[in-house]
Amino acid sequence: MIKTKYICAVAEELNDINTGAWKTYPLLLDQAKCIKCGLCIQYCPTNSVIRDEKDGFFISLEYCKGCGVCINECPRGAISYVKEDQ
Ligand code: SF4
Ligand code: SF4
Repeated sequence: MIKTKYICAVAEELNDINTGAWKTYPLLLDQAKCIKCGLCIQYCPTNSVIRDEKDGFFISLEYCKGCGVCINECPRGAISYVKEDQ
């Protein structure tokens, strides 16, 4: 797995805060829609998108803060919020 490092000190601090995997609206990254452009990794302020050379991109829910930046930047609409019980 490859995790991109940022030079922003604030982002690095946020990245270290584990908020736990449970969220009311966790993010879902649809692998079928993903074209592996990497924009979500570039824009995620908390370094919560992880690229696995074999399996593609996925979101670490333990560290995702739910800001939605990746949803806005994804050109394929591959990332969305889902209700926890769906
Ligand atoms: S919602 Fe925000 S913190 Fe979570 S993966 Fe997307 S950009 Fe990163
Ligand atoms: S921005 Fe969207 S299409 Fe690009 S790698 Fe991320 S999830 Fe896949």
